[in-house]
Parts: sequence; structure tokens; C-alpha cells
Amino acid sequence: ASAEQLKEQYEHFKKLFELTPETLTRITDRFVETLERGLKKEGETVPMLPTYVFGWPTGDEKGSYLALDLGGTNLRVCHVILKGGGQFEVTQTKFRLTEEQKQIEGQELFDFCADCLNTFISDHFGGPDGTVHLEEDIALGFTFSYPMEQDKIDHGKLVRWTKGFGNPNTEGNDCAAMFRKSLEKYEVPIKMTSLINDTTGTLIASNYVRNKTKIACIFGTGCNAAYMEHISNIPKIDHHGLPGDRDMAINCEYGAFDSFEHKHMADIRTKYDEYIDLHSNKPHEQSYEKMIAGLYLGEIFRLVMCDLVDEGVLFLGQNTYKIEKPNVFDTAFLSLIESDPTDELLTVTGLFAHFFGLETTMEERKFFRQLAELIGTRAARLSSCGIAAIARKMGYEKEGCEVGADGSLYSKYPHFADRLHEALRDQFGKDCKIHSHQAEDGSGVGSAIIACMTLLRR
Ligand code: ADP
Repeated sequence: ASAEQLKEQYEHFKKLFELTPETLTRITDRFVETLERGLKKEGETVPMLPTYVFGWPTGDEKGSYLALDLGGTNLRVCHVILKGGGQFEVTQTKFRLTEEQKQIEGQELFDFCADCLNTFISDHFGGPDGTVHLEEDIALGFTFSYPMEQDKIDHGKLVRWTKGFGNPNTEGNDCAAMFRKSLEKYEVPIKMTSLINDTTGTLIASNYVRNKTKIACIFGTGCNAAYMEHISNIPKIDHHGLPGDRDMAINCEYGAFDSFEHKHMADIRTKYDEYIDLHSNKPHEQSYEKMIAGLYLGEIFRLVMCDLVDEGVLFLGQNTYKIEKPNVFDTAFLSLIESDPTDELLTVTGLFAHFFGLETTMEERKFFRQLAELIGTRAARLSSCGIAAIARKMGYEKEGCEVGADGSLYSKYPHFADRLHEALRDQFGKDCKIHSHQAEDGSGVGSAIIACMTLLRR
């Protein structure tokens, strides 16, 4: 393609993907209303799940805890020593889950968790004679990051499996009880005190270390956030026996924002967003997440390329079958393209040659860099709306607050954090006092702190 042609294309996609400050502000307004609706009523698209984690840690929580994280690709077991003063030490082991294990009988999956825990305990606390030296009744926090219905901290009914899990006889059951049964079966000498979602853990761990942290967000495979709400502002829960003057962490599950009807973002949704939605395994769900998260950005980029191949703009005279397969263009490739340090964009040359057998012209490579910038920037700017909505709802704009952020997109995608901050300034003004920072480990440290807080409350 000629430089002229690609410049025209760039202008076209710039219009498609750019978000003005006015658009961001409008989406944030709708987002605030959505969060409030989720707190009022069960069954809303953004479910605003109560976590039964009450209030902030003091930072002085101390002691020795275990944490188990069943999160997707790995099962992780951690031993966490909380030292107070926002300090901690972690030792951990990862156990890889096979695809088969994601489909075995539910109870067998929890048996495997208990078995791994036993292995970890004998590896780390076993003496040479095989005896185990473990603090009596050490508490364990279980991070189980699938949608759960909870009415207390050590109980959680699995609503449905996500992330490719499909273990039978688990949905609708109390997973804490199932796990306890496995602990008994394997005679693991610990007690599970709390069952949490990783976003909630991230909120608590980040606040433990920096007490100005009021919001936690994840930008990884999906996107989500948690924050601390006044119990009196959660009309939908049974307030009997709850301390009405206190706070409870809310797991927003806000990747679902604008799902089903697409009322709030209709004007910014592109045909690529529509395509991804309709061809996903859950059409019409997780609409906000599908425009932001790691699982989708590479695919948006790929769909644009395919369009331009069809229009005869890119890769003229070459066989493009390798990029025509769904999901072959990982979001990590966008990171690579955006961070190519060479003037000739040699990383981009190598990427297309090596993975897709395609030669690129300098003009094409420049265009790819611009396209990655547009898609990455849209994601980061749109990400600001959920954060801005929580901040506005809670009145954090004036005093300011820290936002603990985690996930590969936040930690590895070039300029993601800067673009997010710029979008927050677009909405709250130049002196915006809402800042994000790399969050602490939620499913290890956060889970341990929550286990500790739970024991202290009893
Ligand atoms: P998870 O959300 O599953 O806990 P991550 O935070 O690592 O895990 O997110 C994984 C997602 O991040 C994947 O969708 C992957 O495509 C994307 N990803 C991995 N590495 C990078 C990178 N360097 N830059 C941008 N995205 C990445």
C-alpha cells in the first residue's frame, strides 16, 4: 500500500477509536448509576457482590497464614508471614493445572487442592523424620476467583464456572464446604477461615501496604474492581446482625458494564467490538471488558488487519492465512509493537516474519504501531471510567486516593498507566488526585490478611 493510502486508513481508525473527554465523562455518569443499581437490587448486570470482608486492615495484622489460590492456569499455595507495619514475607509453590483437571468431578478438583496443600506443608514444614512442625490450627485463606454468592466470609455458592472450567456437580454448591470435605479426607491440619475473590484480596493487600489505597482494579485476561462501601449504602443485603455503621468490601464484577442492551457505549462500539462479542463463547456478556482486557485487544487488532487485507491495502501478493485464524494475535504482540525501540521497527519486522510468515514494508510497520497505539489507548482511557465512577460515587475526588492496579495489561503494556492517568485528568481536571500504582499480591498476601482479620473479628 502507498504511504498515502495508509495515512487515510490511520485517520479513519483514529476517528473510530479515539475517545473525547466528553465521551469519557458521559460513560462515567452512566457507570455511577449502574454501580448504585447493583447495590440496590439482586440480578443486575453489574452485580456488586458483597464480600463479607468488613473494613480496612490496620496494617498491624501479624502472624503466620496459608493461602491457596485457584485462579485459572495454576494452583498456588503460599505461606505468608505478616509482620505488621505493612510488612510481610511470602513463600510460594505453583502447581500447574491440566486441561483435564478443569473438567473432572468437582469434589476431585478440591481433593487435588488439598493434596497440593499437603505437599506444600510437608515440603516447607516437614522435619527430616517426616513429622510436620506447623503452628497449631494455622488459618488458611482461599482465593477462588469465580462468581460466587456469599452471605458470610467462609461460605460461597458457585454461580457458574468461568475461564474454561467445567467441573460437574460444583455450580450451585458451597465451594467452601466442598473444600473442607477434601481437607478432612486428606487430614490436612489447618482451618479455612475465609473465601475471597482475587480483586478483593488485591484491595486489602494494597491498603495494608499503602493506606491511601481505596480502590483495586485488575487489567489482565479480564477486568474488574473492588472498593470499600458503607454497609448502610447496600440496600439489597440482609442487614440483620450486621454492623450498620461499618464498611464492607464490594467485588463489583464491572467487566459486565453495558452488557446485553449496549445502551451506554453504543456510539463508541465498532464493528470489531460487535464481531468479538458475537463470536465469543458468551455473546452479549462482559461488554466493557471486551473493549479493554488482554483477552481481546490483540483480536481487535487482528480483525482490523483482516479487513485491510480484504480491501487490498495490506500484505499485497502474500499468503495471509496465518493471521486469518481467530485469536492468533496475542495482546502481548501489541505491547511488543508499541515498545519497538528501533527507527526501522525491526521488532515488528521480526514479529510478522517469524509468527505469520509475512513481510512488511516500513509504511505498514508504522501503520501497525499507530494502530496498536489507538487500540491500547482506547482500552486505557475506557478503563478510567470504572475507576472514576467509584471515585465519584465515594467522594474520593476531593481528598484524592490511591488505586492499586494489577494484571499484565497494567504491568506490561507500554504507557497503559500514563494513558489511564491522562483520562482521569480529562475527567477530574489537571489537579486530579486519583493515582494508580502497581498493586500488591491479592490472592496470597491479601488472602492472608483477610484470614487474619476474620480471626480477629470472632
Ligand atoms: P490473569 O488475568 O489471567 O490473572 P494476566 O494478568 O497475566 O493473568 O493477564 C493475561 C492476559 O494478558 C492475556 O490475555 C494476555 O494476552 C495478556 N498479556 C500477557 N502478556 C502481555 C504483555 N506483555 N502485554 C500485554 N498483554 C499481555
